Amino acid sequence: MAFINENYLKLRGSYLFSEIAKRVNNFKNENPNAKIIRLGIGDVTRPLVPAVIEAMHKAVDEMAKEDTFRGYGPEQGYSFLIRKIIENDYAPRGIEIGEDEIFVSDGAKSDTGNIQEIFGLDNIIAVTDPVYPVYVDSNVMAGRTGEYSEHGYFEKITYLPCSAENNFIPELPKEKVDIIYLCFPNNPTGMTLSKEELKKWVDYAKKNRAVILFDSAYEAFIREKDVPHSIYEIEGADEVAIEFRSFSKTAGFTGTRCAYTVVPKKVVAYTKNGEAHQLNSLWNRRQTTKFNGVPYIIQQAAAAVYSPEGQKQIKETIDYYMDNAKIIKQGLEDVGLTVFGGVNAPYIWLKTPKGVSSWEFFDMMLKEINVVGTPGSGFGPNGEGYFRLTAFGSRENTIEAVERFKNLKL
Ligand SMILES: *Cc1c(COP(=O)(O)O)cnc(C)c1O
Repeated sequence: MAFINENYLKLRGSYLFSEIAKRVNNFKNENPNAKIIRLGIGDVTRPLVPAVIEAMHKAVDEMAKEDTFRGYGPEQGYSFLIRKIIENDYAPRGIEIGEDEIFVSDGAKSDTGNIQEIFGLDNIIAVTDPVYPVYVDSNVMAGRTGEYSEHGYFEKITYLPCSAENNFIPELPKEKVDIIYLCFPNNPTGMTLSKEELKKWVDYAKKNRAVILFDSAYEAFIREKDVPHSIYEIEGADEVAIEFRSFSKTAGFTGTRCAYTVVPKKVVAYTKNGEAHQLNSLWNRRQTTKFNGVPYIIQQAAAAVYSPEGQKQIKETIDYYMDNAKIIKQGLEDVGLTVFGGVNAPYIWLKTPKGVSSWEFFDMMLKEINVVGTPGSGFGPNGEGYFRLTAFGSRENTIEAVERFKNLKL
């Protein structure tokens, strides 16, 4: 008889997006002529830039010829890409990263989900609330948590509340934690940490021999000066932090799939006997065993993001989204709503009017103005009373949605 991993039974269903789809479909059936605008999805809509497409075509042609064909590449990624990552994303900020400290992968979702495998099951993890669900669910699957409670939390996870009361800046936990997931600029709140605030976490990790798992998938959207693009801008972070980056939002690779994870050799965790081990070699072992690398064609496409044309072109796309963010933020403020995010991230996190729940606001938006967003409560109990809109729509739809905000009966 085969037995299942019963930890999977602790998971909550993918309630959020299926419930959204259900409500939208019901509304459509009743109102077949309504023109629905979707500002809920966390997916990009602009096509890949010409520099990337050109590099991909070239790489495809190489695969067609015997002398330039490629089979398995290095599991960690080709050095032509790794060198470009170091030269462009780290060296200009004065951050020294070795080639063997970067692991190219098919996504930050896989990496942030898989990284927990190299840690023992007794670690206490800390996550922000609201949170990107991958961090929590991957630990539930592994058996690192207890049961789900009706209050919306898993036992044995330390939740760090983020709301308007603390300006969405998590406070250091009172109890000791071992692994801390941080995502800044944040999905879903669109808010950031300053260097000073991030330093508190690095200091905490050093003091408690904890490890920070830093997701900077939205780094390219940062506009303000004091906001760190990499956790390694903080002194000593290379001893305690792993950083996740992705080409998904930066360069429209959500369907193309390329990301990378930085695991500095100085970062260690311990055996029960107190013996330190490099996480770099554990992650390398994990990846070389379970992963066979990102396609050559895709890595060439990612490398083209760093060419001068590539940089100019992706910047135009990011500017396009960030102009959308500005339009949405302004539009919501104009109708009297309180709005967060949208300055250094493509997410706008609005406070629902007094007493209106996230799902009630979802229904209001859908019925009164036919705009779809994401209820904040879907990202955690502290997201209740908030609502997420994304800047990834077309300009035309964004402007139209903002026009419609004026018809909301608030
Ligand atoms: C979109 C997103 C990613 C990127 O995931 P990929 O698998 O690289 O597409 C990572 N983290 C967060 C928080 C995200 O929202």
